[in-house]
Amino acid sequence: MPDTVTTSDKNSRHADRMARKKAVIDAAILSADQEKGLLLVLTGNGKGKSSSAFGMLARALGHGMKVGVAQFIKGRSDTGEEAFFSQQSGVEWHVLGEGFTWDTQDRERDIEKARAGWEVARNMLANPEIKLIVLDELTYTFSLGYLDLAQVLDDIAARPPMQHVVVTGRGAPQALLDTADTVTELMDVKHAWRAGIKAQPGIDL
Ligand code: ATP
Ligand code: MG
Repeated sequence: MPDTVTTSDKNSRHADRMARKKAVIDAAILSADQEKGLLLVLTGNGKGKSSSAFGMLARALGHGMKVGVAQFIKGRSDTGEEAFFSQQSGVEWHVLGEGFTWDTQDRERDIEKARAGWEVARNMLANPEIKLIVLDELTYTFSLGYLDLAQVLDDIAARPPMQHVVVTGRGAPQALLDTADTVTELMDVKHAWRAGIKAQPGIDL
C-alpha cells in the first residue's frame, strides 16, 4: 500500500520537525525570564489602537489588577469602553479635555487642559497600586505642541518598576518609540468610514 507508506513517512517527518521546533521554542521561553513594567506604544493610521489597549485593560482586570485610563484629546463621554470599564471596580477613568483643536479652536485653553490632564496622569504614574495605565490618544498632545515630550518621558520613566503603560495615537514621536519596550504600528488597509459608513457603536465607540 504505497499510500499508507507515504502517509506514515509524512507523519514521521512532521513529528521530527515539531520536536525540533518545540526544542527551539522551549529554549526561547526559558531564556525570556525577566519581569518588568512595560511601555507599549500602539500607533499608525489603522483602526485598532485604542481597542487593543482596552483589550489589555480587560486582561489586567481579569487578573485582579488595578488599572487607570487617561483619555486625551477626545472629550466625548459616550464611548462603550468608558460606560463599561468605569463601572468595574479597580478602574480609575479620566476623560481629559473636551475635544481639542478643530472642536474648540481655542489653543490656549487646550494647552491648559492638556497640562492639567498630564497632572492627573502623573498621579496615576506615581501610584504603585495601579498596575496598568492606558494613556489614550496621548500622541496628539505632542504633535500639537501641547505637552513637553521630554517631561512626559521622564515621568513615565520614573513610574513604579512593575507598572505597565500603554500609549495610543497616530504619529508617535521617535523618542517615545525608542523608549518603548513594545511598539505596534497598525496599518490602514481599508476602513468602512471611507465607504460612507458612520461610526458604529460596539465597533468604533
Ligand atoms: P479604535 O478606537 O477603533 O481602536 P483607533 O484608536 O485605532 O481606533 P483613532 O485614530 O483613535 O483610531 O480613531 C478612533 C475612531 O476613528 C474610531 O471610530 C475608528 O473606527 C476610526 N478610525 C480609526 N482608524 C481609521 C481610519 N484609518 N479611517 C477612518 N476612521 C478610522
Ligand atoms: Mg484611538
